Amino acid sequence: MNVPDYQSKFSEMKRYSLYQTLPEGSREFIRGLAFQYNLTVQQFYELVKAERDLHMWKEPGLEQWWDHLETKPSGRNQLLSGVREQLEGICSEAPDYSTFVADTPARPKAKSVDTRTTDRKIHGYCPALSEETVCCNLRTIDVVENCPLGCSYCSIQTFYTDRFVFEEHLGEKLSRIPVSPDRYYHYCTGQSSDSLVWGNRNGNLEKLAAFARAHPNVLLELKTKTNNVDELLSLDIPPNVVVSWTLNTSTITAQEEHFTATPQDRLNAAEKVAAAGLPVAFHFHPIIYYRNWQEEYRELIDQLTHRIDPRQVLFVSMGALTLIKPAINRMRQLGIPTKILQFPHDRDPHGKITYPKEIKQVLFSTIYQAFHTWHERVFFYLCMETDDIWHKVLGRSYDTNEKFEADFLNHLFARLSEDYSH
Ligand code: SF4
Repeated sequence: MNVPDYQSKFSEMKRYSLYQTLPEGSREFIRGLAFQYNLTVQQFYELVKAERDLHMWKEPGLEQWWDHLETKPSGRNQLLSGVREQLEGICSEAPDYSTFVADTPARPKAKSVDTRTTDRKIHGYCPALSEETVCCNLRTIDVVENCPLGCSYCSIQTFYTDRFVFEEHLGEKLSRIPVSPDRYYHYCTGQSSDSLVWGNRNGNLEKLAAFARAHPNVLLELKTKTNNVDELLSLDIPPNVVVSWTLNTSTITAQEEHFTATPQDRLNAAEKVAAAGLPVAFHFHPIIYYRNWQEEYRELIDQLTHRIDPRQVLFVSMGALTLIKPAINRMRQLGIPTKILQFPHDRDPHGKITYPKEIKQVLFSTIYQAFHTWHERVFFYLCMETDDIWHKVLGRSYDTNEKFEADFLNHLFARLSEDYSH
């Protein structure tokens, strides 16, 4: 193809939105490579994505890599192999946050809050539930759609538009959820938004408490990364409501969970809730692999196990970073500095991007061992993991999700009647 022909092809390619988001110097450099190597559309996109990722990770860009090459690639395939090798090399090391400072994005505006009356069903199942992994069959109640906490790895924000939508007829819809008195259930409101970030707006917490009170065989979980517990504690909450915190280290909280409470504030809030006589639970999800992860997770667990009595803890879950394609695309579109995508990629049974099994096993085993003083009392489980990892980490597994669900719920309700029936 001669230069004028390639010029018109390039004019089409450069409309690719990620190319437009690159700084001018990067655009020029990639443009030069496109013409020099007569890049195909796919190859051009791949280079643009690589450059975008390097910027987000605050790693040297492609031009610096190019400048240090002793021999320049002889053709476009060789060019692309070289770029892939460079990225794989960077991703093979645990990312180092010690010199990385994420720029905090703009906080989502509260004015984009809506209430809506629709026929939509508000109850369902965890969107990640699968027969390919050992799953707890978690049920969900979508009280609010969308989350303002701005975690870089979040998939919730990719399910919805950029508005926050409250369910206007929550009480009525809760009363229509079919609950049989002959079995136990575990519902959580934290799969479509943070459960406590909105406080008792629209009376939502009161309505949820009434739902739990009407169904003592339902364990209702309120899952949060905030310390927003005062409104909850001012209400009359039945003991089959468990408040759970998703915890992460100070490094990950500061760099990747932009508007959440600090780990210290989350622990303070958990202490308050436990002191008020409600059961609590903790999720280590997503566990992130980075330089110093062992020390920092152990330190966090040390604080947690010294501050909270395991008799007040119903369960602890562990899950590794797992990313769906739309969440990755969203990160690249936003371009907010993050190291979340900088890791050795593998795929889970559904093709989602996650860590290789060997890394996951070390992450989970280290964290599980750090909780040794809680093993007897607290129910530990893995989220979104396969049978072989369960056996290696926890020394047990379940043939079916139904068996996991039954064992989990029998354990939880036995604890509730033992410790919270007075
Ligand atoms: S194990 Fe995790 S992914 Fe599976 S249903 Fe439970 S919460 Fe959802």
